[in-house]
Amino acid sequence: MTNLIYLDNNATTKVDEKVLDAMLPYFKDEYANPSSMYDFARGSSNALKEARGKMKDFFNAQNEKEILFTSCGSESANTAIRGVLNMNKNKKHIITTKVEHPCVLNLCQTLQKQGYRVDYIGVNSNGELDLEELKNAVCDDTAIVAIMHANNETGVLFPIEKIVDIVKTKNPHTKVFVDAVQTAGKVPIDVQAMNVDLLGISGHKFHAPKGVGALYVNSKTLITPLIVGGHQERGLRAGTENVPYIAGLAKAAELAVDNLNYEVHEVKRLRDKLESSILKTVFNARLNTGVANRVPNTTNIGFEYIEGELILLHLSDIGICASSGSACTSGSLEPSHVLRAMNVPFTSIHGSIRFSLSKFTTEKEIDYVIEKLPGIIDKITMLSPYQDELNALRKLKA
Ligand code: PLP
Repeated sequence: MTNLIYLDNNATTKVDEKVLDAMLPYFKDEYANPSSMYDFARGSSNALKEARGKMKDFFNAQNEKEILFTSCGSESANTAIRGVLNMNKNKKHIITTKVEHPCVLNLCQTLQKQGYRVDYIGVNSNGELDLEELKNAVCDDTAIVAIMHANNETGVLFPIEKIVDIVKTKNPHTKVFVDAVQTAGKVPIDVQAMNVDLLGISGHKFHAPKGVGALYVNSKTLITPLIVGGHQERGLRAGTENVPYIAGLAKAAELAVDNLNYEVHEVKRLRDKLESSILKTVFNARLNTGVANRVPNTTNIGFEYIEGELILLHLSDIGICASSGSACTSGSLEPSHVLRAMNVPFTSIHGSIRFSLSKFTTEKEIDYVIEKLPGIIDKITMLSPYQDELNALRKLKA
């Protein structure tokens, strides 16, 4: 598609050409099963070894054995949570948050049906975690705390080091799993500094392909496998390793480290330019996260008294891809569980849009969105049934 402006990088990202190049030899030439004994398999088994080393560096893990390759972020989370629970059968309490990705929330709901007790910790109106509630929830029975590093809808970062400290002070045996799917490539990840037990990522969120992820498991943390079969991944994840994708993931991780400075400064500058311009020029725009500490690429803006889906359709008509905070379930518009947990006012929860940038986003693209968006919002606002409320807001902002 020509003239595409892709601002939905928290949903998925474009595969980097260099990642693709790193993958191709393992489709075309070095296609052997890495477990095979003959010389021909050395290319793929070396690639696997090398990739594990690169991921160890990416996480700042202590050794390669702490790295498991998976198929995605959801598998990493399921392996971590179920794996820890299976090794701690006498413990029946889990702590997570109200704003987790469905791969954690839906698993926790399934586990509740199987007899586990789950506490869902809340957030404030900026999307920041209630650390006091977390502290009060940890008890002797808590097997695992599953918590995200950054939220996929708002980009809000949780203070992992502080969280681990709170959890371990109350119960040193409780394991902490961090869902770092939205932070890989956006902020540094250091499992030793964070002092976490398990941490999961997904390749397609930082320019590797869909279908590959990784899970860091601290060498002192025991888990059971989710997928049982062959002895691959030290018996913790059966299935012939996806060597081309794993090579791609490792390349993406290497590139992400090299690009971190650009992400933190330049991607953030473009995000801030887009955000501040919208807030300045659109009278019914409201930043949903307020002052919270966020990843550099994400902004979530509520447009009061209008529907997000309508905004997305108008943006799509001119080639701009973004995402709405709402999910359409069974014909009714269900507002996002994340924005609901933040108590985003009903006036803007349905009109909330997430823009998520990447290293491929250009200034020209951001300028185009800045030029076009106010007109689109104006047009939709004129059709809103809430004209009295909008006029009052207009006066207030004038
Ligand atoms: N965790 C978070 C925070 C996410 O944003 C996502 C995907 O959107 C996932 C987990 C799931 O990742 P995957 O699609 O690789 O299973």
